[in-house]
Amino acid sequence: MKILRPIFLFITFTLLFISQSIFAQKPPSVVSDPLASHIDYTVNPGDDFFMYANGQWFKENPIPLSENSNGLWEMIQATINDQIKTICESSAKMETTTQGSNRQKIGDFYFSGMDSLSINRKGLSVLKKELDQIESMKDLNDLMVIEGMVDKSVVSNLFNFFLGQDFKLSSKYALFFRQGGISLPGRNYYFDTDSKTVAIRHQFLAYAIGLYQNMGYQKAASVEAGKQLMKLETDLARISRTKEQLRDIEKNFTKISLKQLQKLTPNMNWTVFLQSLKLHQIDTVILGQPEFFKGLDQLITTVPLSVWKDYFKFKLVNSLTAYLDDKLYNNYFSFYFTTLRGVEKPKSRWERVVEKTNKSLGELVGQVYVDEYLPKGSKEKLTEIGLSVKTVFIERIKNLDWMSEEAKEIALKKLAAMRFKVGAPDKWKDLSTMNIDRSSFAQNVMNANRWAHEYMLSKFGKPIDKTEWNMTPQTYSAYYDQPNNEVCVPGCNIIIPGFEKTMADDALLYSIIGGSTFGHEMTHAFDDQGRKYDEHGNMHNWWKDSDSIHFYKKTKELVAQYNSYVAVDTLHLNGFQTLGENIADLGGLRMGLEAFKKTNQYKTNELIDGLSAEKRFFLGWAYAWMINERPETVALSVKSDSHSPARFRVLGPLSNTPEFYKAFGLKEEDKMWIPEEKRVTIW
Ligand SMILES: [Zn+2]
Repeated sequence: MKILRPIFLFITFTLLFISQSIFAQKPPSVVSDPLASHIDYTVNPGDDFFMYANGQWFKENPIPLSENSNGLWEMIQATINDQIKTICESSAKMETTTQGSNRQKIGDFYFSGMDSLSINRKGLSVLKKELDQIESMKDLNDLMVIEGMVDKSVVSNLFNFFLGQDFKLSSKYALFFRQGGISLPGRNYYFDTDSKTVAIRHQFLAYAIGLYQNMGYQKAASVEAGKQLMKLETDLARISRTKEQLRDIEKNFTKISLKQLQKLTPNMNWTVFLQSLKLHQIDTVILGQPEFFKGLDQLITTVPLSVWKDYFKFKLVNSLTAYLDDKLYNNYFSFYFTTLRGVEKPKSRWERVVEKTNKSLGELVGQVYVDEYLPKGSKEKLTEIGLSVKTVFIERIKNLDWMSEEAKEIALKKLAAMRFKVGAPDKWKDLSTMNIDRSSFAQNVMNANRWAHEYMLSKFGKPIDKTEWNMTPQTYSAYYDQPNNEVCVPGCNIIIPGFEKTMADDALLYSIIGGSTFGHEMTHAFDDQGRKYDEHGNMHNWWKDSDSIHFYKKTKELVAQYNSYVAVDTLHLNGFQTLGENIADLGGLRMGLEAFKKTNQYKTNELIDGLSAEKRFFLGWAYAWMINERPETVALSVKSDSHSPARFRVLGPLSNTPEFYKAFGLKEEDKMWIPEEKRVTIW
């Protein structure tokens, strides 16, 4: 995926290596374009192109206290949020909405979130039914029912459980069970011994104890519950795989019969679990990490039921604190945002409620968004860029020097079969059975989660709906879906700040949309994970051994390059953990550039604001990743994200691109310089 959430990425000003001696570029006399006005001319482009291209903007736009980061995504998100706010407010004010209509749901959801008096008055009492249900747990069968209930209400719990396309038989849906259950951002947070991580663990414990006190536990009981929670989560982390181990899809795919699962985990009654979710006739499941479930089965019997009760209560309340009273929210914010991400101040209520309304009711908000805000012609322009990148990809695959002829044949078939979902879905999901009213924000959030859960499970046994979107048109992101062999680029990707009135020039469109979006996503179909799926989306390795050998030889160099980057203090990137995304960035840049070379702007090399077509393309690439992040957020992303931080999504790919060296006149002494024989081209 191009981006997930703005929890990762960064840049600290302390890291800047500013070269005062080599000022290769002078500011143009007239500045009217974001590309030219964002440049920091005190930085040598060959030393740090990320800061050269974006530095001036960073200087003028410090990170607000309420944010992890500031940059292009935040600008785009602010535009989208303002539009969604208008949709929410106008819906809440509508007097004649029909009960059950889209506008009624949007309006009531938003109203319930803005009604802080009622939220604070009711506090945790809105969760009484669920908390009582957890308290009434009597045996291990009840535990399995509670697991399903909490998972359905708040999306994640002791393990992750979802319905998706079977990787080995993409025409069928299957049930997936994967490791889960921890409340810190990753497995390593439970074991790393550096002082920062140790401090985070202490603060997490204090936070958990505080949460138990807010639930009404006596002081001693809350301390004990907090300690037991920490111990249990550490045990869950211990039986979990690392981020690197999770990268290999094949190794995280074990299809077994329900009987075998029951044999593997005799203490977990799966029949009870599945029946509680109205799932009948299940005979096989897909286990991501069998040893996790085997370990969990041991924990189920050795950990006392009272500890499990406390654990489930914590998971339920912790997942909903953002929608409960101010006291709970402030504690949650203090740990999850300030301690973990360095954010000092919460966002205003309306921003949080708008974001949540959009997240829970995205399909409904999206229908209004497309009608009222998506610029006309967006779909056509996005499609044009996507098709151009696809044409380039075909040419490049034919000419690859490392891929065997047999593999190329399948790669070309896969490319020909690849579908695009662009702009907005033709068919919207039917949310008519979702109950939303004005009485409780947290209940509305749970109702939306439960609806989504039931909707997901209702697909079991039905044919795959190829028209379904997994993202809304107002989501500034994109994805490649392996089982469906499709790229989805939502309509709002056409937004480029600074070009609100006219369409941006092709240099920007082809770098940001062609390269970092379409090109990036399309490479995922062909990389070390994509090669495991054929043109029908079935898991089937189409590489020969020689393809693997050549590919890994190239990627080894890339892993070493990224390992050498220092993100914060002495924290290096993990070149292996981020390999797939780094390859996608490198390939995306190449595809976008080759597609751009076919445009008129490139051919005529018309100067805009004193910038050549190629310079604008590379500045556009840096603009796509113009994201300034707090060091805490960067550190968190280095430990838990499969994407590199923004700065290295610029430096890495450009350092391997000869056209960039030429466009900005890089010299051997420049910090981004990589000797020619060490530069990597994969696609
Ligand atoms: Zn990606």
